[in-house]
Amino acid sequence: MTREPHLNAAPVTVSPSPSVHPGAGRYAPSPSGDLHLGNLRTALLAWMLARQGNLRFVMRVEDLDRVKEGAAQQQLADLASLGLDWEQPVLYQSTRRKAYQREFERLQEAGMVYECYCTRREIQQAATAPHGAPGAYPGTCRELSDQQRAERRAHRAPAYRLRAEVSEYTVHDMFRGDYTAAVDDVVLVRNDGTFAYNLAVVVDDYFQGVTQVVRGDDLLSSAPRQAYVAHLLGYPPVTYAHVPLALNEEGKRLAKRDGAVTLPQLRQAGFTEADVLSWIAASIPVADPKKTGGAQVFESAMHILRFFDPQRMSLEPWTVRDPLKIS
Ligand code: GLU
Repeated sequence: MTREPHLNAAPVTVSPSPSVHPGAGRYAPSPSGDLHLGNLRTALLAWMLARQGNLRFVMRVEDLDRVKEGAAQQQLADLASLGLDWEQPVLYQSTRRKAYQREFERLQEAGMVYECYCTRREIQQAATAPHGAPGAYPGTCRELSDQQRAERRAHRAPAYRLRAEVSEYTVHDMFRGDYTAAVDDVVLVRNDGTFAYNLAVVVDDYFQGVTQVVRGDDLLSSAPRQAYVAHLLGYPPVTYAHVPLALNEEGKRLAKRDGAVTLPQLRQAGFTEADVLSWIAASIPVADPKKTGGAQVFESAMHILRFFDPQRMSLEPWTVRDPLKIS
């Protein structure tokens, strides 16, 4: 699929026709290790929402950094073993640098990019811009003269930032409704030359025909700035569905160190895919009305899909208790 978008100053109103281009949902793991129960749940929800919406489902490995050898293969195998399926080929971000470069240059040619020489510490120490959100880039390098840039360049390679023309942006989220958050001058290319997540995710979602972005709600606040970048690139808006995260027993974000929480660990402890699917189903919650009394067992992702009602989905985080302690 090749699509040639163009920079657009006005909001994009033309969406691809559903009959020609049905749109897609996606899951986009970072291959930094094995997926834990919270990740598996998010992936299942993304797959089910795509299937229920008659969308294609695509996979993307976000391997621009934090890559652990073999992790992507293990993640995909784990997802397949739960019964998820997706279109081939899987997109690997490490193969997409040319595309990011091309889209970055379109922003640059439109005068929407500037060089930034600030260190992380300088940004933390600088007072936030008068109307900026806390933590927003204060715009230190926005108006450097050619001479100032040349001086700084002698000491440090630049990062490239978006010259944002709005201070906030609104997206639509299936669960949260219209959601507005601050947009600042996001980094597009880091000073080590790596393309930033906020650019790559937008370019790839468009390239893969993604119309529905389902992911953990830790990323909700970054959706408006990604949607703004997409808008500048002339891409049609996507619908978001940010789903609650999984927490450990202390109420903190679930992590791999929280006991047996990945499929390989759980298998080793004697649990099966059906156990994992059944816990996740209970957390959504999804129940099979034909099965009353006793524990509800779900053998496959398809079985959960049959009884999944997004309207009844819990918007509370899922507290995962260590299954080794329960059984
Ligand atoms: N790769 C990101 C993660 O694993 C998800 C990015 C996204 O879904 O937009 O946290």
